[in-house]
Amino acid sequence: MKVCGQCGVRRGPRQRSCDGCGSSLAPLERSLPEDLRCVAVRLELRCTACDRWTPVDGPPTGWTAGAAQVACARCGVSTAMSEEHWRSVLEAAHGVADLLAPDPEGASVSPVAIDAINPFASEGAIRGSVQLAPLAVEGLVGFLPNDLRAWMAPGVLLSPEDRQPVGFEVREEMLRTNDASGVRRYAIDRRCVELHPSLLGAVSDEVERDREGTVAVIGAEQVVCGSCRARFVLDGSEHRVRCSRCGELNQITAAVRHAAQGEPRPDTWWLVFRGPSGYRRRLEGHGAPMQPQEERVWAPTPHRDRVAQERLLQTAWALGVPLVALGFAGVLSVLVALLRG
Ligand SMILES: [Zn+2]
Ligand SMILES: [Zn+2]
Ligand SMILES: [Zn+2]
Repeated sequence: MKVCGQCGVRRGPRQRSCDGCGSSLAPLERSLPEDLRCVAVRLELRCTACDRWTPVDGPPTGWTAGAAQVACARCGVSTAMSEEHWRSVLEAAHGVADLLAPDPEGASVSPVAIDAINPFASEGAIRGSVQLAPLAVEGLVGFLPNDLRAWMAPGVLLSPEDRQPVGFEVREEMLRTNDASGVRRYAIDRRCVELHPSLLGAVSDEVERDREGTVAVIGAEQVVCGSCRARFVLDGSEHRVRCSRCGELNQITAAVRHAAQGEPRPDTWWLVFRGPSGYRRRLEGHGAPMQPQEERVWAPTPHRDRVAQERLLQTAWALGVPLVALGFAGVLSVLVALLRG
């Protein structure tokens, strides 16, 4: 697939710049192993205390009583994000990774044609990404609960070293990515895998295990070096800062970064799945019909109908063109004869 050379997000056929990072660099042709699906995610939850959208910057890092807490980047109060919330995020992300593509059949071809009923087909023909949102917010409705909204884009996770796809491996409860510079490990949330078994894991700052250096902290309402307490001035885009006083590399956590942003902006993180999505299987007519938009007609069309239609068109074309040409030649010769006569 054609992806942004900067961030690895898919570039739609009619897009000059990247939906993920805005870069207008020429896209690169990059592919994933046949059975893997990667998707970039920016997720927000509506805070129950202040009723504003707040970023969710990665998969859950802990569960209490069937929910993971998300601290609001605006008011500080935590809102519970339930297992059902996470299940729908994972299902939608896998669906987008699998079905949003220039081909209305999606990233692969099903045993039965799903092009006419693929809910992401028309978006995929133009764009590389999709907004999933509740009613009254711009985006595709019905894929997420009303208190969630997300931007999602299929893509290929690229190595910052050489812009080649990173390799993935799951070992010891960690998703490992490897490239020319080495291996990075990301904790896998076991509950998320139970909720969506084809999830391999997530790549986000918040669950990375091998982050070097120290963590910048907020002291006296200022962000300071975790090692020497020198003050940092941040613009809100930094994920890492090297301290100019002691030289220590500081990690800027999402909470600290959001505090430095005027309006908290959700981080972009990645989910990695194996195999076709549940959405695709439902479109193929297996399992239950899709819940969110039951008014749609989900009946699959067999491929042979499509093939037969195409053949009919081809035959019509093959016969029609010579006939029209012959007719035109006939009319011409009559005209010529009339003019001469
Ligand atoms: Zn990009
Ligand atoms: Zn809030
Ligand atoms: Zn320092």
